[in-house]
Amino acid sequence: MSQRGLHARSDLVFEVHDLGRRVAGLSTVRRTAIAGEGIGNEMIGVPVGSPIDLDLRFESVVEGVLVTGAADVSLHGVCARCLKEIELVEQIDLMELFLYPDKELDDEEASRIEDETVDLEPVLRDAVVLDLPFTPLCREDCAGLCPTCGTDLNDDPDHGHGDAVDPRWAGLSGLMDD
Ligand SMILES: [Zn+2]
Ligand SMILES: [Zn+2]
Repeated sequence: MSQRGLHARSDLVFEVHDLGRRVAGLSTVRRTAIAGEGIGNEMIGVPVGSPIDLDLRFESVVEGVLVTGAADVSLHGVCARCLKEIELVEQIDLMELFLYPDKELDDEEASRIEDETVDLEPVLRDAVVLDLPFTPLCREDCAGLCPTCGTDLNDDPDHGHGDAVDPRWAGLSGLMDD
């Protein structure tokens, strides 16, 4: 399987012609793709242009081609509690059955083989988004920010309110000291 040819629209499109319709035809592909836009949510996602290491297995089955494997992606986001930047590498499991174009199924959403190729882009995007944490954290026990003054409580766990007071309240507390 190569990326060359008429249908090489993206790094994530694979030709499956070689597999033929022989059941149990099998091929494996390792490829590094470059991430496009829109893989992730507002808080965290795969940076555009970052490498995606793919380790894939294409298997010819009765209905089409079953693609399984893993993608190592970089994630870049912001901690939901302390707003610190987060960078990590995540391994995403992929599994998708691409049906032959002439296979009738009730499920119109099913992935299809088109022009002897399969496009893993939507599959990868969905898998990454599903895998992403709902509230990304820089670490599990991130202490977050002080709700009163915004100090990072990870840096200053014993943070109290004698010293670092929001400037808006400073005048007031001055009055109260008297
Ligand atoms: Zn944090
Ligand atoms: Zn505070």
